[in-house]
Amino acid sequence: RVEADHPYNVHIGHQVFSLFTKDYHGLLSSADRIVVVADAQVAKLHLEYLLGYLREFDVRVLTIPAGEQAKSVETFMDCHTFLLSEGCSRKSLLLAFGGGATGDVAGFVASTFMRGIPYIQLPTTILAHDSAVGGKTAINHKLGKNMIGTFYQPEAVLYDIQLLRTLPADEVRSGMAEVVKHAFISNESWLLELLEIDELGTMADGEIMAHLEKGIAVKAAIVEEDEFESGVRKYLNFGHTLAHALEGHFGYGRITHGEAVALGMAYALHLSNHARLNEFLVWCRKNSYPLEKLQEVSFEEILPFMKKDKKSSEGALSFVLLEKTGTPFLETIEEKRAEAAYLELCSMLG
Ligand code: NAD
Ligand code: ZN
Repeated sequence: RVEADHPYNVHIGHQVFSLFTKDYHGLLSSADRIVVVADAQVAKLHLEYLLGYLREFDVRVLTIPAGEQAKSVETFMDCHTFLLSEGCSRKSLLLAFGGGATGDVAGFVASTFMRGIPYIQLPTTILAHDSAVGGKTAINHKLGKNMIGTFYQPEAVLYDIQLLRTLPADEVRSGMAEVVKHAFISNESWLLELLEIDELGTMADGEIMAHLEKGIAVKAAIVEEDEFESGVRKYLNFGHTLAHALEGHFGYGRITHGEAVALGMAYALHLSNHARLNEFLVWCRKNSYPLEKLQEVSFEEILPFMKKDKKSSEGALSFVLLEKTGTPFLETIEEKRAEAAYLELCSMLG
């Protein structure tokens, strides 16, 4: 359960969609329209499976572009057009079916359609353990990612673990980096457990589920303390100052968000003088995180992107660092020191 301004439950496991006809039967049956907003790729693989659980309801489906492409003004407007032409009202319910991108745009649509209608998150990626909890919604502006959005909590999150089996390897890597981030900012023994995984692709459902539950608990606890990001919620940005810069430099699609976060965490660990940096680099190599991308881009090239980071103010760079595992803090770092650390990290990569 997430105790936000608007509390809700996160259900994770097998067959959680059966809750549509149990815990959430009232919510679904009292909606005058139910609209599924589905990622195109996810719809291809899993829409029939989802609709199998919704047979007793009159459900309309809108398919949106797969992945990050969907976080656009065009898709946002297409969703509103669909809702209006299907006769939706303030009593309608939206189901967001896909990864973080779908959740972000569908959540934004839910928060703005007729000033807000209820929605349920049905996440289908590992990364979405992060994005589906916390109520941040957004689309991208051409001048910056996630620049247009709201804080808007869902009615529930139903996370069917079985759907993760079709995730491509780079998306598994992407999601597990955010899991590792949650461990770094919270719990050393859990972190060590994660760093023992030699091949992310071979994790069993039960193992994935246990890690996702822990990650969600960390995220939920932080969001409960600071729903609107005035304090501790910033710690969730561990690894993200450089990650956003790398995503900006390489362009979305050439590196996944979580892969960029893994590289960003390596940098933040180095800036923190953290004892686990070497172990983390070994883990990244074993699991094929694209560490070599750090050597493909110079500090000068990424500096302007890091300066644009929401946390950074005039002239100085702002990072979330770790005093030790589980103890994050915000630090302002001079450009010179940041550059030296970047070069050192690149040389450690050989
Ligand atoms: P995504 O939604 O872009 O999905 C990644 C790819 O995987 C897409 O091509 C999608 O079609 C495919 N896919 C999704 N589920 C699948 C499945 N089960 N089987 C096969 N393919 C599948 O990526 P993501 O990593 O889930 O989310 C990234 C987005 O989340 C970013 O836009 C980021 O800004 C956002 N995000 C938001 C928050 C938040 O708090 N709101 C937090 C973290 C990230
Ligand atoms: Zn992230």
